[in-house]
Amino acid sequence: MSSNIRLQRICQNCGKEFTARTTVTKCCSDDCAKRLYKKRKRSINIEKSDNETISFKIKPIEELKAKEFLTVRDVATLLNCSLRTTYRLINLGSLKATNLFERKTLIKRADIEFLFERETQVMRSNTEILFEQPKPMYLHHESSQLSMETD
Ligand SMILES: [Zn+2]
Repeated sequence: MSSNIRLQRICQNCGKEFTARTTVTKCCSDDCAKRLYKKRKRSINIEKSDNETISFKIKPIEELKAKEFLTVRDVATLLNCSLRTTYRLINLGSLKATNLFERKTLIKRADIEFLFERETQVMRSNTEILFEQPKPMYLHHESSQLSMETD
């Protein structure tokens, strides 16, 4: 279908101004049209593979969230930390774990939540200590003044 229309357009591939003969022309040449098509296809594929990667990453976490008892590896995945760090938390007693039998350590989901609650409390009490620190110093200063007065 040919027409007599002449439209000034900017090529969506190379950015050059060109005269289009139809309202749907997006490129200055067939070459640019092919390149634009390839670019689009590539970006769609990248997006698709990105989405696949995301769901691949999220899926195991969603599965872990449904589990009541977790392995050390599960906990490491959930907490986004290494196996070593998770074992350290257990060895420090921060995270409660049960050795069902050799090489089978299970952690209750509730204990992970408890770990967070307790860590928050520890942080809070640390802040309190920081704010309370000047007080004893002041008291000490006062008492030394008192003792000087009695002398
Ligand atoms: Zn072009």
